[in-house]
Amino acid sequence: MSQFNLILLGPPGAGKGTQAERLTDDFNLPYIATGNILREAVSQETTLGKQAKAFMDAGELVPDDVISGVILEAVEGPDARDGFLLDGFPRTVAQAEALDAGLEQLDRRLTAAILIEVPDEEVMRRMSGRRVSVKTGRVYHVEFDPPKHEGRCDVDGSRLVQRDDDHPETVAHRLEVYHEKTTPLIGYYEDQGVLRRFDGTRSPTEVHDHIRATIATLRLEEEL
Ligand code: AMP
Repeated sequence: MSQFNLILLGPPGAGKGTQAERLTDDFNLPYIATGNILREAVSQETTLGKQAKAFMDAGELVPDDVISGVILEAVEGPDARDGFLLDGFPRTVAQAEALDAGLEQLDRRLTAAILIEVPDEEVMRRMSGRRVSVKTGRVYHVEFDPPKHEGRCDVDGSRLVQRDDDHPETVAHRLEVYHEKTTPLIGYYEDQGVLRRFDGTRSPTEVHDHIRATIATLRLEEEL
């Protein structure tokens, strides 16, 4: 079977996680989400978590050398032999170069960089309203996807909180960081001929349909 090495790009709140969930089901790919790996490390208080926490809470990027090794290990692991869907990595040109070098060593290359585009104002609206259950991790939105009872998870009634990095000032800062550090990757992947752009202001289902169709076409082309 041909390999499928995909990355998801886009600002925080573009819906990358939502799309990733659907795409990994469609194409049976392992989902490697840096944000989730880091949050898990923080809650387990591992060495990685301790190194990452302060950066994350402030909306800053965790240093490249802290994150690159962890992600390359996942990409090189047995689960990702037939491909992967990376979300939240790379976020800087240095990380993209580290990924390229790691893939090259494995004689692999990126199949596509999926860019989900959403304007800053929409990101602010989406993220400032986001709430997450302290227990189940289920995510809600006060406006777009409210729980049945305010402040409580539908699943088990656990308390809903705002993630530290979803506070409006932190979101604004994360957007600044995105524009400064991550948007150069758009040109980087455009030059490699692997960039695919999607309008992230459409409904999750429409965005998903578009991405799925594009990936299915790429897969057909690879198999020709
Ligand atoms: P996310 O859930 O992907 O938005 O990630 C949450 C936070 O984790 C980010 O704001 C960063 O502090 C950190 N983080 C996630 N991925 C990376 C990465 N590739 N490089 C550096 N920091 C990252």
